[in-house]
Amino acid sequence: MNEQQRKEQSQIKQTDHPTDGKSGKDNIERIKSTTSDEMIAKYFQTSYQPPDIKKARKRRKEDVQFHYDFSIPEDMANIGKGKKFLIRTYGCQMNEHDTEVMAGILTEMGYESTADTNEADIILLNTCAIRENAENKVFGEIGHLKPLKLEKPDLILGVCGCMSQEESVVNRILEKHHHVDLIFGTHNIHRLPHLVKEAMFGKAQVVEVWSKEGDIIENLPKARNGKIKAWVNIMYGCDKFCTYCIVPMTRGKERSRRPEDIIQEVRHLASQGYQEITLLGQNVNAYGKDFEDMEYTFGDLMDDMHKIDIPRVRFTTSHPRDFDDHLIEVLAKGGNLLDHIHLPVQSGSSEILKKMNRKYSREEYLELVRKIKEAIPNVTLTTDIIVGFPNETEEQFEETMTLVEEVGFEAAYTFIYSPREGTPAARKKDDVPEEVKKQRLYRLNELVNKQSAKSMKSYENKVVKVLVEGESKKDPNVLAGYTEKNKLVNFKGPKSAIGHIVEVKVTEAKTWSLNGEMVEKTVEVN
Ligand code: SAM
Ligand code: SF4
Repeated sequence: MNEQQRKEQSQIKQTDHPTDGKSGKDNIERIKSTTSDEMIAKYFQTSYQPPDIKKARKRRKEDVQFHYDFSIPEDMANIGKGKKFLIRTYGCQMNEHDTEVMAGILTEMGYESTADTNEADIILLNTCAIRENAENKVFGEIGHLKPLKLEKPDLILGVCGCMSQEESVVNRILEKHHHVDLIFGTHNIHRLPHLVKEAMFGKAQVVEVWSKEGDIIENLPKARNGKIKAWVNIMYGCDKFCTYCIVPMTRGKERSRRPEDIIQEVRHLASQGYQEITLLGQNVNAYGKDFEDMEYTFGDLMDDMHKIDIPRVRFTTSHPRDFDDHLIEVLAKGGNLLDHIHLPVQSGSSEILKKMNRKYSREEYLELVRKIKEAIPNVTLTTDIIVGFPNETEEQFEETMTLVEEVGFEAAYTFIYSPREGTPAARKKDDVPEEVKKQRLYRLNELVNKQSAKSMKSYENKVVKVLVEGESKKDPNVLAGYTEKNKLVNFKGPKSAIGHIVEVKVTEAKTWSLNGEMVEKTVEVN
């Protein structure tokens, strides 16, 4: 997705999920009185193991344990009464959903959410490590929050999410950002009450980053962002080890939730009136491959979703390698399984795909697309693409361009390759100048924009079904929502349509969105 598309897509007003907590004056004192060497020695030797790709590859299935017994310790249950929290989320849907879980835990501890940093008693930065610029943004924010922390020593400032799983990041915070009270990893979210307690009453910076990632904690509370659409985790981690990617290290090994837990969660969401769910995993097509006691795949799960009375079911992200015929067959049943598939290709060159360890070639990807289009003729395909992978030649980049045209992607998240410490690709010498990479990204975005605009044009004068999410941020008289194929639609209509699926006649197509008029009589009664 390019900047313009990102801007358009963020135009729907949503409620924020803030965070908060309390601490004592001794926060600053304890920070001042401990040297960073002491902190590093204490926390790294006892609880922190840096991401290690060799170890990660050896992890075993049998280490997965399920827990159904999460509860807030009695002494922390009301600790947040009268206080506020704010969580700032960076990165992917997985992080957004983790934020909902942390918001749920803090709410159960008595905290209320706020969107105002000045009001917050706890501020958590839920971070993303996927590219360097994501990390730079977080360090910028940590710096911006320093005056607030100095002014309000009781404020608890925490850093969590994927960046916390990186040794270099934890080191940098411990050495240079003493105003951060709390650092915890992606496998430590359920420990939040204990960590907050330590940050409040302890004398040192609190660091808890587990590299053990075998557990699935089932009954964590969630404060969902809205009542219309919901994220549902179906699995955690990733075992694909694409050579450019930090995720297998920051999120741990692939481990699937039990189908009965997922089905129960989705049924519950349906009964609460949610209109759309998105099943989440780094590679949802690998769902169930780690079950040792049964054969149950992602196709089987989607078949079970098809039977649940909820209007829309989406999923992300889908790795082409595990996209099997059974899944295609199930998706072709339609109904609440939408005909939009996000299928990251990353590159159109088989040589680059090999270097990326994607485990499919250009031809295999195109064959998968052919099968999908044959089974679901009206399907919309979108993708992720990285340009400027180390030593990518002009010809290899051109192969990406021709693949984008051949498949006819209607949108793409496009990125310049960003070296990530600890990944195999980051060790490669790279002879492609930054300027060339930028040019390639520009050319690719021009092509994707052209294809998007063309697909949008085809909707003019047609009626589409829109799940109305709220008012447009630009104009409160305009409502906004998404079609089944995930196209953003802006239209004038009554506020009572929010939360419902309505029919809208498209009057004007733009590059990344549609304008329309509501077809009055067809508001569904949900
Ligand atoms: N699991 C998903 C898959 O395999 O398609 C992707 C998850 S990742 C959070 C989202 C996207 O970030 C990837 O599809 C890839 O295009 C991009 N990405 C990951 N690592 C990157 C890197 N080092 N530099 C640039 N883009 C990267
Ligand atoms: Fe990263 Fe996705 Fe590859 Fe996993 S499959 S390593 S998350 S790009």
